[in-house]
Amino acid sequence: MKPMGTIPAEFRGSAPLLIAGRRAGDWIADAGDTPLFVYDVAIVAARIARLRAAMPAGLDVHYAIKANPFVPLIAAIAPLVDGLDIASRGEMALALAAKPGAAISFAGPGKRDDELTAAIAAGVTLNLESEGEADRALAAAARLGVTPRLAVRVNPEIELRGSGMRMGGRASPFGIDADRAAALAKRVIAAGADWRGFHIFAGSQALDPQAIIETQAETLALAGRLADQVGVMPPLVNLGGGFGIPYFPGEVPLDVEAIGAALAERMAALPESLAGARFAIELGRWLVGECGVYLTRVIDRKDSRGETFLVVDGGLHHQLAASGNFGTVVKRNYPVAVATAGKDAPVETVSVVGCLCTPLDRLADRVTLPVAAPGDVIAIFMAGAYGLSASPSAFLGHALPGEVLAGQADTPNAIFTSSVP
Ligand SMILES: *Cc1c(COP(=O)(O)O)cnc(C)c1O
Repeated sequence: MKPMGTIPAEFRGSAPLLIAGRRAGDWIADAGDTPLFVYDVAIVAARIARLRAAMPAGLDVHYAIKANPFVPLIAAIAPLVDGLDIASRGEMALALAAKPGAAISFAGPGKRDDELTAAIAAGVTLNLESEGEADRALAAAARLGVTPRLAVRVNPEIELRGSGMRMGGRASPFGIDADRAAALAKRVIAAGADWRGFHIFAGSQALDPQAIIETQAETLALAGRLADQVGVMPPLVNLGGGFGIPYFPGEVPLDVEAIGAALAERMAALPESLAGARFAIELGRWLVGECGVYLTRVIDRKDSRGETFLVVDGGLHHQLAASGNFGTVVKRNYPVAVATAGKDAPVETVSVVGCLCTPLDRLADRVTLPVAAPGDVIAIFMAGAYGLSASPSAFLGHALPGEVLAGQADTPNAIFTSSVP
């Protein structure tokens, strides 16, 4: 038997499992079939409210939509946040449908000329990743005859300790090295751009509040030095994010109140060069990761050499991260449940495997679950971020899953859309 991660509090304690007050089977009946992602937007709204209460007043909150680009979810989040962060032209179209261009910022290496042109024309802020990209953005703006909104993304000499994905403190394709950032900022200001400030992102998926507190302090200090060198106040300093969520056994939720209190102290004692600047954090998984449940039906139950396998109709083609193949080194178990099992059902040790013909497709490895049979539904939690859009859905030619948004405050339990073909 191997341990699994902790089921998010909102889904604990109900058997059969309730999602936004309804059983898995009800969601599946509405959507038509499994596999199905259900996102409870009330959980997202509660996360954002908690964050707002914890963070200093005047700190903007941005949603990084690459975490989950499901259109109804973006529409629900857009009014609750101050900005949307995008990383492609496709995400730009989604973001522009939900917020005006001035509230959107575009980061990411390898922005094509047509992407730069479309972003400038739409009034989106470009977080410049290199001197070459700055030249191309200025040329695109000149061709359009408009003033581009430009910020500089900095590759900081800062490392977010304990971060699942470290981005700073090393040679990087992301951003421009901190010692060249001021010169680039001066250049785009001199060229007549609408100067938007700095974007400094040091890493992702950190669960140690102290690591985030230190990184934010260093990020503010770096922004202060850069602003001093440029001699122009940055209108906005995007401090990055990196707020993690507990996927695995032994991990605990992040103390965002401690982070907010420390940041409030720092923001009350800013260097002169940052007086009057706005600040933002950009979050993906912390806002949406825990709201999602992936529901997949047991197709077969089989025994092999003393082990029991539940074979389900979903798999890593929809939920790659749960199989341990998306940015994790050691495979550990996501929280999983038998959604259809009642209270006090007898338990057993089983592995949950997907329907793909590859040994990589193991969604839970030797976990203790209520005894399940074909027809039962398995719930895989922590499926709200980097799920379907971060999985190889074309691999092996299975159908796409459905996606539904649940728990919208004014229209409870509404189903907005489903991508079941
Ligand atoms: C991916 C990304 C994010 C979101 O990361 P999470 O770990 O989901 O919060 C934020 N900012 C940038 C620049 C990113 O690339």
